[in-house]
Amino acid sequence: MDNVKIINIEKTYLSNKNSSKKSFNLNIPRLEINEGEFFGLLGPSGCGKSTMLKLIAGLLELNSGEIYIGEENIVSTPTEKRNLAMVFQESLLFPHMTLEENVGFGLKMRKISREHRKIKVKEILNIVNLEGMEKRYPDQLSGGQKQRGAIARALVCSPKLLLMDEPFSALDPKLREDMREFTKSLHSKHKITTIFVTHDKEEAFFLFDKMAIMNQGKIIQVGSPKDLYENPESSFVAEFLGIKNIFYGDIKNNVFYGKDFILNLVEVKLKIEKGYESNTCFKNDNMDYKGKYLAIKPEGCFVCKSWPEDPLLKKDYGCIKGEIKSMSYMQGFLRLSVKISKGYSIDVLQSYNSDVTFFIGEKVIVGYNFNKINIIN
Ligand code: ADP
Ligand code: MG
Repeated sequence: MDNVKIINIEKTYLSNKNSSKKSFNLNIPRLEINEGEFFGLLGPSGCGKSTMLKLIAGLLELNSGEIYIGEENIVSTPTEKRNLAMVFQESLLFPHMTLEENVGFGLKMRKISREHRKIKVKEILNIVNLEGMEKRYPDQLSGGQKQRGAIARALVCSPKLLLMDEPFSALDPKLREDMREFTKSLHSKHKITTIFVTHDKEEAFFLFDKMAIMNQGKIIQVGSPKDLYENPESSFVAEFLGIKNIFYGDIKNNVFYGKDFILNLVEVKLKIEKGYESNTCFKNDNMDYKGKYLAIKPEGCFVCKSWPEDPLLKKDYGCIKGEIKSMSYMQGFLRLSVKISKGYSIDVLQSYNSDVTFFIGEKVIVGYNFNKINIIN
């Protein structure tokens, strides 16, 4: 199996050549990517994603550590012998070569005969839907076509590993979406192990089988996008994945004490001492914790004018009074921000219902589903 295994890697950038002061430090104790996986590195700009990719590619030298592809430690293998290919934000096609020559370039370097090259290039251009464009120069191709050309060039030598660094960030939104779909279907057909870097969580949710969330040169959490969203282990991950309602406080007798508001919890999925996969939901008569973050998913909340007398609802939901601060309609959903105290608001995402209208400043009740709450350190 050609898994990618990263063990104790470290890379330090110095603030300038003549100084020993560190300006950035990447440190990854362990990361394993399975053969055939579509793996993502997700994190804010400057967290070290490109550095990590360049270290795997051999475009940068490690300070220490090991990187394995399969059984082989590739740390001292030159880039061109690592059997991998890269796609960057800019397509980097050679401007003076036709698409056909660009895509066939790697094969030419490997001394593959002209006829074989032609067959292979045609096959790959078919896969990326660029058949018939062989004779065009890069400046005669659209942004999306250029990126597909770059992908074709990467795939032509049948790499074991495909590395992609924000390949669609320079494209307009519609094209970016098309390219995402294209890349996903390409991966599901050919199953080339892929490591894809992005700072865009929508892209991450759409594409990745598994991902590592990074911050400041470290991996914060690894898992499938669903695992990470459902069970974030830190407020950083929760916030980065778009869970906007994150409050700090203490929990005593099943009540959460925020800075200037309280929330009744009664029954909440606990993830603190349990491994985050366990996903157990258990009643806890005396839930007492000091200094925790409460992350409430906006889609687990709803806004109503009066609290419905429904015993089933009461079993799963708590409620708090508030005042609508802002409201916007988006694609069948209503996003509301409801002020619940002097300094705090709850973000709510609910299905749009044309029978009920709300207005800014309206006094309402926010219901929150206990099953959509994480208590995190
Ligand atoms: P990302 O791809 O996540 O945006 P990078 O890996 O490009 O982040 O960079 C991580 C950090 O290292 C940033 O603070 C960046 O400014 C710094 N950095 C990147 N390349 C160099 C370099 N060659 N020399 C010094 N600092 C660098
Ligand atoms: Mg980068």
